[in-house]
This record gives sequence, C-alpha cells and structure tokens, in this order.
Amino acid sequence: MSEITKEKALAYHIGGKTGIDVTKPCNTQYELSLAYTPGVAFPCQEIAKNGDLSFEYTNRANLVAVISDGTAVLGLGDIGPLASKPVMEGKSILFKKFANVDAFDIELDVHTVEEIVAVCKAVAPTFGGINLEDIQAPKCFEIERILKEELDIPVFHDDQHGTAIITTAGLMNVLELTGKKAGEIKIVINGAGAAGIACAKMYQALGVKNIIMCDSKGVISTSRDDLNPYKEEFAIDTECKTLDDAIEGADMFLGLSVAGALKREMVAKMAPEPVIFALANPVPEILPEEVMRVRSDAIIATGRSDYPNQTNNVLGFPFIFRGALDVRARKITEGMKMAAAVALATLAKEPVPYYVKAAYHNENISYGKEHIIPLPFNKEALIWVASAVARTAVEEGVARVERFDYDAYREHLRC
Ligand code: NAP
Ligand code: MG
Repeated sequence: MSEITKEKALAYHIGGKTGIDVTKPCNTQYELSLAYTPGVAFPCQEIAKNGDLSFEYTNRANLVAVISDGTAVLGLGDIGPLASKPVMEGKSILFKKFANVDAFDIELDVHTVEEIVAVCKAVAPTFGGINLEDIQAPKCFEIERILKEELDIPVFHDDQHGTAIITTAGLMNVLELTGKKAGEIKIVINGAGAAGIACAKMYQALGVKNIIMCDSKGVISTSRDDLNPYKEEFAIDTECKTLDDAIEGADMFLGLSVAGALKREMVAKMAPEPVIFALANPVPEILPEEVMRVRSDAIIATGRSDYPNQTNNVLGFPFIFRGALDVRARKITEGMKMAAAVALATLAKEPVPYYVKAAYHNENISYGKEHIIPLPFNKEALIWVASAVARTAVEEGVARVERFDYDAYREHLRC
C-alpha cells in the first residue's frame, strides 16, 4: 500500500467525499410533472393516510442518518461537529460501498442529551434508520436508550454495538478453537467507555459470568465512589486495584482504551491460549509481536489491516442496516445483534474467497487462530449478516414487511 501523507489525504478530500444522485428520469416536461407538481401530490396523499407508505414512495427505505456531535471522534477525541464531518462523510461512503445503503451525515452543534434527542426525533421522518456516531460516553447510552424507546426506526450507536458484535463473533470462534466455555472464562476489559460497556453486556448475553472492567483509574470495584451508573453495573467486589492485578489468569483481554496499556509481563500472567483484542486506535494496547515474545499460544486481534484478525466495524454496521432496512424494521433488537455475531462467526469458518486472499497477498488464509473473524473485503459478509439480521427482525415481530423469504432474500443480496 502506498504511504498515506498529509498532502495526499488533503488532496483526496477537496470538495468532500459524497454527493446526491437522482434515481428517476427527469428530462422531459412529463417526467418533471411526475417528479414534482402535480404528480408528487399523489404519494403525499397516500403517505398522509398511512405513514408506512413513506417506505414505499420515498427514499426512506434506503436512507440512514449518520449523526454525531463530534465529541468522541476516532482517536482524535472531542474535536467538535465541524471537524468531525470528514469522518461522518467517510462513514457514509462505507454504508454505500459495502451495502448500497444511502447515508447522509448530520453534524450537530448541540451537545446535551435533551438537545441531541430532540434533533434526532425531529429529523427521523426523513430516514429509515439512525446511526449514532462518535458521541461521548456516558451520554451516548442515555441518548440511544431514549431514541430506541421513542422512535419506530432502527437507532444504533455503532461505536458501542458494532464493536460488541464483531468481538463477540471472534470470541465465539475462540471458544470453539480452544475448547473453553463462555460460563467458565475470565475476561478483563480495559476501557469502560462506549465500546467497553456495550461489549461487556453482549458477552454476558453470550453466557460469560466473570468480567472485570478497568477504566483510567483502575479496576471498577464496589469500593470506588467515582463511578457513573453504567460502570457501577459492572462493579465487582474484589481486592484487585490495577489492570496488572486483574489480568492474572484471564482468558481474554479486550482493550478499548489507549496505546500501550497492556504490558508483556501482564500477557505472561494470562491463562493458557489467551485471546487479546487490542483495539485502541490508531495504536493498539499492545502490538502482536510483543505478545508473541512472551506467549506463542496467544490469539491476537487488532484494529489494523497489517496484522491478522483485523477487527473493523465495517464488518457490521453496513450489513446490519441493510438487513434492518430491507424488512423495514422498527428497531435493532438484542436478538438481531446476536444473529449478526453468529453470522460473522459462521462465515469465518467458510473457505476464504480468492479475491480476499489476493487483497491480502496471502494464499493461506483459513479458519483458525489467525482468522477468527472474516476479513473486511469478504463480500459474503453482506449476504450472511444482512440475511441473519432481516430474518431475526421478522421472527421477533419488529419488521414491517408481511412476507419474507430468507432464501430469496439471500439470492437477491448476491445479485
Ligand atoms: P471512550 O468512550 O472515550 O472510552 C475510553 C475508555 O478508556 C474510558 O473508559 C477511559 O477511562 C478508558 N481509558 C483511558 N485511558 C485508560 C488507561 N490508561 N487505562 C485504562 N482505561 C483507560 O472511547 P471508546 O469509543 O469506547 O473507544 C476506546 C478506544 O477503542 C478508542 O481508541 C477507539 O478508537 C477504539 N475502538 C476500536 C474499535 C475497533 O473495532 N477497532 C471499535 C471501537 C473503539 P475513563 O472512563 O476513566 O475516562
Ligand atoms: Mg466511531
């Protein structure tokens, strides 16, 4: 890959990265009369009688809002709404390129829970779904909770659930590869922000009982009096104070914190065949070569494309929304998220397509410790994840469509 320089990146961004396309002919007086007045009055009247027809007669069924207030942007932090726009445009590109979902970025110059909720509710009639993005914890939890309750379209905070779904898929395969059981393993999560808390909840749903969380002040224990309610839910009664204390005998380390937080000496104290998700961006909690110096039996995943097991949310959100939009889902349920994780875990065991091997210049990629999740360029992920999400939405009664044929839908996605 050629080197990314500041000059090249700025040149690429001139004029922004997205635009609007027209999907119907509008070149004659007749077509103009259909597209706008007088023809446009007919769909308006139909929708006024039945709001669900907005999914039929407008672009709503394929349109997602990417909404951020710019307070927790990638590895950049609280850079504000305007400076977050290139990231949100980038997210829109991924929606379109990976799953043909139209996405529109909306950067908000308001920051309280009440204000963000009010804006999202106000714009909801335009969209078939809302992807909340890079909004600071803990307010992101409350914003999402209220919107899920009050809106009848999917609301999904990707920093939380995308990460939880993909690492859960990886964990499912790690359990299979090592013969360990969810109910018996010990997981240490370093970072109790948006991603860390959501991951912990999803691992509990998978059956994990022993989870120790740490934040910038150390282990989240009942002896602390500085915890927000979301951290408090995971406070345990323990003598452990630091990550170094907590990591002893752990089967899994999940890093959603900062570069360099996990030391070699800590890895050495982990249980046999430990798994290390070092996901801090752009530099992970520990580099794979550091782990390998002390533990040749470890499984390691990072967010980077230059090491095995790249953990990238692009494996989730485009396909999850694709499936949810295609059945006109009212929400994204816990069941739909778990179905997405199972689909990714199952796909990782399938033969890896030739074009993925070619993209990574590696003929030998196959299911195992260096391939616990599918790679981002595996086009099968669209089919597997979207169909699993759509089917679960129908089964759980949150879809608006009356008829759904799983096999036909998979075939449609393949085309
Ligand atoms: P966040 O909401 O800001 O949370 C960050 C958490 O890390 C906070 O709980 C913070 O503690 C904690 N922390 C900071 N320094 C620490 C330290 N030295 N030791 C232990 N904990 C520490 O951020 P987020 O959205 O959860 O993301 C966290 C990191 O993971 C970022 O680098 C992000 O880019 C990365 N990430 C990667 C992926 C991926 O798939 N590769 C996905 C999601 C996130 P306090 O609560 O005490 O401030
Ligand atoms: Mg993000």
